Amino acid sequence: MRGKKPEKKPFGRDSPPKGYPRDQSLYADPDNWRYPLHSSWNAKAARRYFDEPSNRAKYTKEEQAYIDWRIDEALQRFGQISGSEGAERPSPKPPARKKIDELTLRELLRVFLGAARLKRAEEIEDSLLSISNMTPERIDAKVKDYVVHIDLKNQTISHDCQDWRQNMEAKNMCKHLGKLLLSLEPNRAVGLLQNILHHIDEWKFTAP
Ligand SMILES: [Zn+2]
Repeated sequence: MRGKKPEKKPFGRDSPPKGYPRDQSLYADPDNWRYPLHSSWNAKAARRYFDEPSNRAKYTKEEQAYIDWRIDEALQRFGQISGSEGAERPSPKPPARKKIDELTLRELLRVFLGAARLKRAEEIEDSLLSISNMTPERIDAKVKDYVVHIDLKNQTISHDCQDWRQNMEAKNMCKHLGKLLLSLEPNRAVGLLQNILHHIDEWKFTAP
């Protein structure tokens, strides 16, 4: 278990909404009958709603961690994400109803990282990132003890963590890439991710 189970809230429910499960264990926030997780559709909806800052803000940090953990667990159970090591992740795909050039930085990061990894990327402290070189054609950085080299001219990203190695063939990203991209000037990060998505077959994700 992660975080702390949310306490009963003023905005909480006293019983399940009509037509929803009567089993409290099927809710990410059980005591308030919020965020039902009994189907793949509901788990995905829970993730979407709980990613809204205004919804998150109703809970303490500890309670947010609990709800995130419960939702991610449900998504994993329904095969919607593969947060655990070794599981197959599908290759990045833009959402069906949006053009690549319309995607925001957050949406792009979700495409390449998925919700769980994006969250972990956001939790990496700034002091663990150092950018040693940043030119229009190249970005060299270190996140924790891992190196990241982004070569825009040769359309290559090289990085060396275990998660990256396991997912680079499918061209998914890890939390370290997420941290670096979150730290770039937003327009630059958006441009880079859109470029990769447009030319996904040309980009090479490698490890040293
Ligand atoms: Zn990594």
